Amino acid sequence: MKAVVLKAFGGVANLELQSVPDPVPGPGEVLLRVRGCALNHLDLWIREGLPGSKVKTPHILGSDVAGEIAGRRVAVHPGLCCGACPACADGRESDCPDFGIIGAYGGSPGGCAEALAVKAAHLLDIPAGLSFEEAASLPLTLLTAWRMLKTLGEVGPGQTVLVIGAGSGVSVAGIQIAKALGAAVIATTSDAGKVERAKALGADHVLLAPPADLAREARRLTGGAMVDVVLDHVGPALFMDALKCLRPSGRLVTCGSTSGPKVELDMRYVFSRQLRVIGARMGSLAEMREAWKLVTSGAVRPVVDRVFPLAEAAAAHERLASRGQFGKVVLSL
Ligand SMILES: [Zn+2]
Repeated sequence: MKAVVLKAFGGVANLELQSVPDPVPGPGEVLLRVRGCALNHLDLWIREGLPGSKVKTPHILGSDVAGEIAGRRVAVHPGLCCGACPACADGRESDCPDFGIIGAYGGSPGGCAEALAVKAAHLLDIPAGLSFEEAASLPLTLLTAWRMLKTLGEVGPGQTVLVIGAGSGVSVAGIQIAKALGAAVIATTSDAGKVERAKALGADHVLLAPPADLAREARRLTGGAMVDVVLDHVGPALFMDALKCLRPSGRLVTCGSTSGPKVELDMRYVFSRQLRVIGARMGSLAEMREAWKLVTSGAVRPVVDRVFPLAEAAAAHERLASRGQFGKVVLSL
């Protein structure tokens, strides 16, 4: 089969279209004919060499996969776990010591290839009307945003969610999930071109180039109530400003820190307002199935920025690294 192989950690020049042996399915696995594979920032980090990852080169990237098996159109839950430890038994699969993501953590090969062996139990049927590329754009960010907002953020009707950085995959899923859960959404973006697109997804207010006093804007837009939950994946650039937007007992849920690894935290806000800062790492198969119902119902629509053929994987990586995208960058096979 053809696959894009990462020959060594480093730049996009290390991605090469090669012919490699077809994968052989193990116990409980089936062979998927891959038709679409979406990129995540995780792919860029793994490509550059991520400390703590078990990935060794040569390696095939790609965590978000859709394709077909004997005519059945499916997307794939990207999580991997041992299934036997206390965390797995407790439904906390992303706490499993053997937690992995297809094509990333754990070192298993990913979907930038014509075929991929996947767990039969992890298949998600693609609703009619969605293309393979659209379906591939969903699983990882949909699941991450679902766990952040529903499971950890406890978002419900009448609440307000502040979504930081409106154009990312997690954010475009988060805006739609928050609306589906009955919440109002305030989103931020530094790109004027993303304002109307975020509103079209359901954001009630979009703050362009987040103002110096974000909390004041949040107070104005919520009639003084402040926001219940912040969805963050940006980190230090807006962390303290976002924290100040929370109401007492509000939650800031974070799944990433793209503007750097360290934040300054004024502890007085945390204890006096009884805030919670919660880390999130993807989610479980059970959460994936719950979140996928929003795809089946049409409440969450895929947002595809651009589709590249598999052979142009390097250009796709550059598109994602540019941060100019709105929604997902997808490879088509
Ligand atoms: Zn486990």
